[in-house]
Amino acid sequence: MTKKVLSPESEILRRLPAVDALLRSAAENLIKQYGAKRITAAARAVCDELRQEVRQMTLGANGTNGEISREHLLEKAEKQLVKFFEREQNFRTQRVINATGVIIHTNLGRAPLSEAAIKAISAEAARYCNLEYNLETGKRGRRAARVEHLLAALTGAENALVVNNCAAAAFLVLTVLARGGEAIVSRGELVEIGGDFRVPDVMEQSGAILREVGATNRTKLADYERAINENTRVLMKVHPSNYRIIGFTESPPLKDLADLAHRSGVLLYEDAGSGALFDMSEYGLTDEPIIAESIAAGADIVTFSGDKLLGGVQSGLIVGRREIIEKIRKHPLYRALRVDKLAYAALEATLAAFERETAWQEIPVLQMISQTPEEIAQRTEKFAKKLSESATENSALKYESIAGKSVIGGGSAPDVQPETTLLAVKHNKMSADKLEETLRRSRPPVIARILEDQVVIDLRTVAESEEAELLEVFVKL
Ligand SMILES: *Cc1c(COP(=O)(O)O)cnc(C)c1O
Repeated sequence: MTKKVLSPESEILRRLPAVDALLRSAAENLIKQYGAKRITAAARAVCDELRQEVRQMTLGANGTNGEISREHLLEKAEKQLVKFFEREQNFRTQRVINATGVIIHTNLGRAPLSEAAIKAISAEAARYCNLEYNLETGKRGRRAARVEHLLAALTGAENALVVNNCAAAAFLVLTVLARGGEAIVSRGELVEIGGDFRVPDVMEQSGAILREVGATNRTKLADYERAINENTRVLMKVHPSNYRIIGFTESPPLKDLADLAHRSGVLLYEDAGSGALFDMSEYGLTDEPIIAESIAAGADIVTFSGDKLLGGVQSGLIVGRREIIEKIRKHPLYRALRVDKLAYAALEATLAAFERETAWQEIPVLQMISQTPEEIAQRTEKFAKKLSESATENSALKYESIAGKSVIGGGSAPDVQPETTLLAVKHNKMSADKLEETLRRSRPPVIARILEDQVVIDLRTVAESEEAELLEVFVKL
């Protein structure tokens, strides 16, 4: 009888932990967090990976890896399993510190909500609430009536409606008002916004026929007038948002367009994009339509976003003439595009701050826009001082304050770049790219910009309540 001789490779392979052993030793906490099914699958993947690794190692080293013990392999597997789930954390929806200085940052969830809006979601709407229930009568009530009320009051419109986002609002308005007929738009306003909202595409999907008038840079009232025919349903005015033509440009005032529309028996619809609820020219935002002014100028319907300059949740706000809004409300497409109770609650709380006239103090987007360069310079100086006090003597960090610009973002006011102070940070042992990555993978993740080979931090978009956490992330570097 010959004894079977094991190759060194299979000897080591035999020492590999079984999936069960790995689960017993490492996974108790992880199982609580992710559930047994998920962890078992991950443990299996880790064991397979380790097996591959051992195979390659043994073959490469010609069978001399006898020192790899069972304990060593189990420990290694545990570490890999933990690392696997640490990386998973990056895919969880989570709060991040936005140190980019881009205020309405679409990739980071656009507008951070006000405290009142956060509370309205978590303390009220997240549970049972009176979404469609009238507490006075005990009967079915109008869905989120107060939001519509506030919107109408704040814009001077007769009526209002809320849908999922501004793209949905434009789609809905065009479907209801212009399907099968023509909508006239200036060539200068056939824009693409944020990569996936294209006016001509939305128009086509709605079933309205696009009638382009004028030139890219100039469109006159007479151009609209000539294009109006018996199939025309609306004149559409689109705010070009993140796109600007500078120089030799012309477009008729909204009032003239409204008069022309009404003279001709058609409607004027404005997609205002960001839309401001009040004048923000004090902070350089001179090109954003003020919704109340559009309504006053005679626009029949205006749509704008709830999470750009308004500083609320993702939503598309539709305001305008009573009978038109009612017609939209009755359309089946509205039922498909309406928002949920969480969005309504947050929007209501946000709008209430505008009603109280405390929006500049309460709404984070507006707070950030209105911070003066001096305030940010002071905050940055204080932050740098705290950093130097908390840092150990052999800290690898070097930093200095430099002048820079913040960005409004979200397609709003592309030509407005508020002055700011940036903290430029360097690390002895890390390139700027590596430092940016390390910040991004810390908890909470810190999102920073790289500018001329340095990581820069703009405190304009960091809430004061987040500064302590930010400091801790830096001290740990
Ligand atoms: C941003 C914008 C939109 C799209 O708004 P969402 O709320 O992102 O859907 C539509 N039109 C204009 C003019 C915009 O600026």
